[in-house]
Amino acid sequence: MSVLDPPSGGAGDPAGPRFLLKRLREIMAATADAQERLDRLVEAIAANMVAEVCSIYLRRRGDVLELFATEGLNPQSVHQTRLNWGEGIVGLVAARAQPMNLAEAPLHPAFAYRPETGEDPLRAFLGVPIVRNGQVLGVLTVQNRAVRVYTEEETEALQTVATVLAEVASSGELLEPEATHEVDEVLHRAVRMDGQGIVAGVAVGVAALHEPQLPRHKIFASNVAQEAKRLETALDDLRKSIDELVARNSGLAGAPMDVLEVFRLFAYDKGWKERLREAVYTGLTAEAAVERVLQDNRRRLERARDPYMRDRLHDLEDLSRRMLRHLAGDEAAEPDATPDDAIVFARSMGPADLLEYDRAKVRGVALAEGAAASHVAIVARALEIPLVGGLGASIDSVEPGDPVVIDGDAGEVHVRPSDDLLESYRTAIEVQEAREALYAQFVGEPARTTDGVDVVLDMNAGLLVDLPHLAETGARGVGLYRTELQFLISEALPKVSAQTRLYKDVLDGAGGRPVVFRTADIGGDKVLSYMETGREPNPAMGWRGVRMGLDRPGLLRGQMRALIAAAAGRDLKVLLPLVTTPGEVEAAREMLEKEWARAAKSGAALPTSRALGAMIETPAAAWSLKEIAAVSDFLSVGGNDLAQFFFACDREATALAGRFDLLAPPFLQFLARIVTDADTAETPISFCGEAATDPAIALGLVGVGFRTFSLPATAIGPVKQAIRSVSSIECAAAALSDAPREKLDALAARRS
Ligand code: PEP
Ligand code: MG
Repeated sequence: MSVLDPPSGGAGDPAGPRFLLKRLREIMAATADAQERLDRLVEAIAANMVAEVCSIYLRRRGDVLELFATEGLNPQSVHQTRLNWGEGIVGLVAARAQPMNLAEAPLHPAFAYRPETGEDPLRAFLGVPIVRNGQVLGVLTVQNRAVRVYTEEETEALQTVATVLAEVASSGELLEPEATHEVDEVLHRAVRMDGQGIVAGVAVGVAALHEPQLPRHKIFASNVAQEAKRLETALDDLRKSIDELVARNSGLAGAPMDVLEVFRLFAYDKGWKERLREAVYTGLTAEAAVERVLQDNRRRLERARDPYMRDRLHDLEDLSRRMLRHLAGDEAAEPDATPDDAIVFARSMGPADLLEYDRAKVRGVALAEGAAASHVAIVARALEIPLVGGLGASIDSVEPGDPVVIDGDAGEVHVRPSDDLLESYRTAIEVQEAREALYAQFVGEPARTTDGVDVVLDMNAGLLVDLPHLAETGARGVGLYRTELQFLISEALPKVSAQTRLYKDVLDGAGGRPVVFRTADIGGDKVLSYMETGREPNPAMGWRGVRMGLDRPGLLRGQMRALIAAAAGRDLKVLLPLVTTPGEVEAAREMLEKEWARAAKSGAALPTSRALGAMIETPAAAWSLKEIAAVSDFLSVGGNDLAQFFFACDREATALAGRFDLLAPPFLQFLARIVTDADTAETPISFCGEAATDPAIALGLVGVGFRTFSLPATAIGPVKQAIRSVSSIECAAAALSDAPREKLDALAARRS
């Protein structure tokens, strides 16, 4: 069966949802009086669903649910029966925004008995929320005397009707002006969304939808034959445009082309076309038909366990959006231009999507999905764009142009915020800017403690856009250049020539400051779409980093070749990720030497020096530090990974965020030993990774002996300020005390 095959209950089946929708359309067309329309609607729904009762509750001011129409309950209770949000089962359906299907409703603990409704003999209950743009506008219920569980098809049919009700209620076609106004208020009220702060920072701006919203449209068509023709024409146009898209990209090969081909198959899917036509023949407009079919599929596919099936939903959503644009005509064919100060809302986003935006206009990104280590997060961090993820379906309530505050520190997004809230955020931003101005004052000053110990602050980077931050922050150089970003945002493995160009641009951009290139840390969560790696149960501990590089010499050797060529006439520093044994460093060095000899033999200009370093990111590497130091020119502790393996705590697990403190005495003592071993081996060691962004942690690391850090650009100012306000002795005493967090927080607080 095709995923787009129609479910049972076609247009001619009097028990099917399509028949019901047709009836609804007739009622909407035939009745002028709002109350009469509602009464006829509940009557028709009850008859179609063979229910003794059907009722519509609508949300009134103060979040009260008022019975607006009923078939089967006491008519006197209409506009009299009111339930608070969360009160009774109807209130629960509204509060949870979820259907409830109960064989014996009176036995449910939330059941609220309302004598005026006369619902005593009723047992079975099915209620679904009436939702538009993520906001609950009311509840639609059916009830039966018999004890029974409603089928999945019945629940879906009622949800479909509720979707149409939500649309007509908000379009003003269903209710009296006063009630329509209240619906409008609900749809435009201030919303606070809670998610995970993935990239820190606060911004105020206006909402822009990554998947642009389409113009409003009518729900019911006045002429079915004409509507069927519109559908046919739009479908033809859509197919043509997709054929053109495929032809235009015929140069693509491999996975990206396969994706386009699958997409084209969907556009030509007979099941999809059939379902659209059927929906139009029930009297819906072509637009409403596209939305209806999408909703039905969404409900079915969201439940699918198979990720392949769930991905098809993305295809179908994209296709439906394109179809709606074709129906809306040429003026809507292209998404709107990005407004100034845009906060971009999207279900999910790839790194390339974000890079396509005008950097000068985007102030923030809010995602329904998204994790801290996702590629888009890495890019957003590099661009210093605050990002909040994990917002779920709440993003549906946003409309383009809505005022928005995004708070990447707290993981909150405020849509249509109150003036007070807006004002307090504006003040917070001003304070932040004042601080930045303060950091700017000592850009040229050293990070020197009060007792004269110098600490070197380098910067982490991964994109060319990072490099201007070197001068802005006063960083000595790039201590960690994550080369895998180029691999992640490319559609195919970047050629050696493309890699060479990038590395050369990076060195040019650094203007003579040192740059440490970390070889591609691919694998784990950093999956390349064009490379088959197989599924791993524990990817963070799997085939990644230098392990993959050594197994795929084509990858690592190509990178070394590019690095040697790019660094001609300059110093070359190469760092290996996720080293576990000295043998791995030796094997990589052999590769580097071979490539060096090859370049020398060809007569190419060579770098002035070469240094090969190892990242200390596994406890095994930490415990064989002397042996690894013996075969490495320098070392760098990757605090993100080292802490994850030390505490056995997945760095991506949001549920565990903040559970373990890097300033816990065992970890600090572990780090102290690493520094001592490196010093004994006389091998330079630094600490890179995002952990030292917290000034208290940075001071703790100074306390255990680190003298070189590589930090995100935004952390350099605050960390330098902290270092300049303490002595190294105080740091050591605090770090090696029995309450390091408390003491180091106190030391870090001195800077402000
Ligand atoms: C680290 O693990 O600390 C590190 C710098 O590497 P990445 O965050 O890229 O894994
Ligand atoms: Mg790492």
